[in-house]
Amino acid sequence: MRTVYVNGEYLPENEAKVSIFDRGFLMADGVYEVTSVLDGKLIDFDGHAVRLNRSLDELDMVGPVTKDELLAIHRELVTRNSIVEGMIYLQITRGAPEDRDFAFPDPETTPSTIVLFTQNKPGLANNPVALKGIKVISIEDIRWGRRDIKTVQLLYPSMGKMMAKAAGADDAWLVEDGFVTEGTSNNAYIVKNGKIITRERSNDILHGITRAAVLRFAQEAQMEVEERNFTIEEAKAADEAFITSASTFVMPVVEIDGVQLGDGLPGKVAPRLREIYLEESRKVAV
Ligand code: PMP
Repeated sequence: MRTVYVNGEYLPENEAKVSIFDRGFLMADGVYEVTSVLDGKLIDFDGHAVRLNRSLDELDMVGPVTKDELLAIHRELVTRNSIVEGMIYLQITRGAPEDRDFAFPDPETTPSTIVLFTQNKPGLANNPVALKGIKVISIEDIRWGRRDIKTVQLLYPSMGKMMAKAAGADDAWLVEDGFVTEGTSNNAYIVKNGKIITRERSNDILHGITRAAVLRFAQEAQMEVEERNFTIEEAKAADEAFITSASTFVMPVVEIDGVQLGDGLPGKVAPRLREIYLEESRKVAV
């Protein structure tokens, strides 16, 4: 049984409890982070901690722990649950006031709720899916306008994954005003004539921690990167495509809306980036 962390305590997962009045439960008033673990170490913890603070600030939420405490909790959970490869899920909500109310409660009297748990995923780095790539469909992006804040409002992304599944695909890319924003739970990229193209950062997409690292590594490896909007038609005519996220790292996309890219197998760029990302991230894991 897993040991999880709830509001200052390490508990067996079946003893951990959160109030039914918690605003995360009633209003999706909460933010989260997912940090991957490789070799029993945290990948890009710093990036996730910085983004978490930004999400909290943007929502006028008060974080219950310092960055050092957060790192200590992550490490303790990795140790207690013997995680070698997997993820740590972290969620902070605006806490549980005495009654349901739209107005934000006073943080002095209603402390935020913090929950962390581990997800054991042996084989995460050597995921065989990366060898054959994934298929995506495109769907309309009807999410709210602050996708740069990592909130727990994940209903539409969940519906998108179900739409993909129903269509025999693995995931969905979201399209707004004709342009791809991102994947349901990842950033989206295409490759044309060796150039890596991905939407620029704005409120329209989550600023992926993996995205930042991958673009940095790509530039260091003298690969050309262009941050701009692209349409789904341009994507279908691309040489390659891929997604990035903390749990999939770099994952090739080989089919978009039933249209095969190239010969339908992962190309050169995405697998190379995956290799570089894993190698470089492991070196600086904590
Ligand atoms: N976009 C969305 C909508 C996401 O949910 C995620 C992952 N949670 C990402 C992008 C990728 O972010 P990261 O690389 O930090 O995991």
